[in-house]
Amino acid sequence: MKLKTLLASATAVIALGTAVLADGTIGIAMPTKSSARWISDGNSMVEQFQAAGYETDLQYAEDDIPNQLAQIENMITKGVDVLVIAAIDGTTLSNALENAHFADIKVIAYDRLIRDSAYVDYYATFDNFKVGVQQATSLVDGLKARFGEGPYNVELFGGSPDDNNAYFFYNGAMSVLDPLIADGTINIVSGQMGMDTVGTLRWDGAVAQARMDNILSAHYTDKQVHGVLSPYDGLSIGILSSLKGVGYGSGDQQMPIVTGQDAEVPSVKSILAGEQYSTVFKDTRSLAGVTVGMVDALLKGGEPEINDTSTYDNGVKVIPSYLLEPVPVDASNWEEVLIGSGYYTMDQIK
Ligand code: BGC
Repeated sequence: MKLKTLLASATAVIALGTAVLADGTIGIAMPTKSSARWISDGNSMVEQFQAAGYETDLQYAEDDIPNQLAQIENMITKGVDVLVIAAIDGTTLSNALENAHFADIKVIAYDRLIRDSAYVDYYATFDNFKVGVQQATSLVDGLKARFGEGPYNVELFGGSPDDNNAYFFYNGAMSVLDPLIADGTINIVSGQMGMDTVGTLRWDGAVAQARMDNILSAHYTDKQVHGVLSPYDGLSIGILSSLKGVGYGSGDQQMPIVTGQDAEVPSVKSILAGEQYSTVFKDTRSLAGVTVGMVDALLKGGEPEINDTSTYDNGVKVIPSYLLEPVPVDASNWEEVLIGSGYYTMDQIK
């Protein structure tokens, strides 16, 4: 046998060996590497799936919808046993999921709900409404602490309108803010409210920065902004750049209270520098753990653990879900929550 042929058959035997040894292959479709949280999600899943005896095929789509669709179709063709998907656009996967269904592949929606398909089996996520409640509660606490009793001038930002989570974050936040807007404690000076108006396509920080620039020049030449509801750290960084650009945070112009989500390193540093006020920590290791548990149960004939059967209607059916608890983080508890849990090391932050 020629050396090349020999090597090829040796590789085939090894591949066969691994396939026989593994309990199955899990296709993991993640949205983008441009935000650190999704990198942590992917790494934690690979680690935990492998420890549980599975092979993984992890793909990132750089926020490009056709790219993610092609990756998922490819996983289906390759015959993965389960698909774990954090969708870029939760409404564009119906055809792919139908193909998965006919290929007998189970589907888990990861963090973001996949809409308009009957072929989503389970949903692993955080309590997304509560994330919004925590963001707005932190905003209000910060406003009181920094600016006294009010009234306060506030602006609102929402997440990507094609991400179901964005509505839960916004609605959760507005459940806290609406009564304060109604009684005059909070003024939305630009008048811009509602996800149709304040949504930020693809969670893009540059888009948020440009919108904040416009709001500042159109509505705040003779007024001070006291607070900004931001649903995600990547947007908060853009919003803070815009605010700093017109002098907030220097001289006698106090920095407005700006919220966030995901406890990404640049934002934790910004909190320590007194710029961003807060974030919401969602432990991606735990989300990966819940997902691995669900998949393991599915493939071994058990019942995945769920704790919610009413909240997440995807337009076709209510998806059985497991909701994890988000944790609000600010300058007072970041060390205990983020370093204490081993999510970051002190070197990463300081
Ligand atoms: C996630 C958030 C994240 C956002 C932007 C949402 O679906 O739940 O944790 O901040 O996407 O990536």
